[in-house]
Amino acid sequence: MDLSPHFTAAEFACRCGCGFGLRAGDVSQDLVVRLEAMRAAAQALDVVNLWPGGLEITSGCRCEAHNAEVGGSRGSAHRYGLAADVACPGSARAFVLVSAALAVGFVRVGLERGCVHVDVSTRPEHPQRVLFGWNRLAELGRRSA
Ligand SMILES: [Zn+2]
Ligand SMILES: [Zn+2]
Repeated sequence: MDLSPHFTAAEFACRCGCGFGLRAGDVSQDLVVRLEAMRAAAQALDVVNLWPGGLEITSGCRCEAHNAEVGGSRGSAHRYGLAADVACPGSARAFVLVSAALAVGFVRVGLERGCVHVDVSTRPEHPQRVLFGWNRLAELGRRSA
């Protein structure tokens, strides 16, 4: 099922195979619209053409069991079809993806190992205008230093 010109429901489906993400309404339309805008913004910013293939979604919807399996926080926006992790091989790509995410109005952005997280949750337990994950990465850096 196509959700938009460049994204299909299968890309957002829970990786455990449970089917969450495949039904109409499972994935936030606001999220998909914003990801389309982020894709265009990233391509416009990507002057050295690091990644012509667009945005690869590595994790979208997650059922409770799969979210626990991958170490997601209990109330993760992935549990509600409100979040996507975009594959991010390297810091030059991270700069482009985060710049694009902020430019199109994502106000919940995360830096994670190998991906940039974006979500559109406005649930009361989810703060707005946050860049999260940086503290965990700092800890990882200290450990490996
Ligand atoms: Zn699942
Ligand atoms: Zn995420």
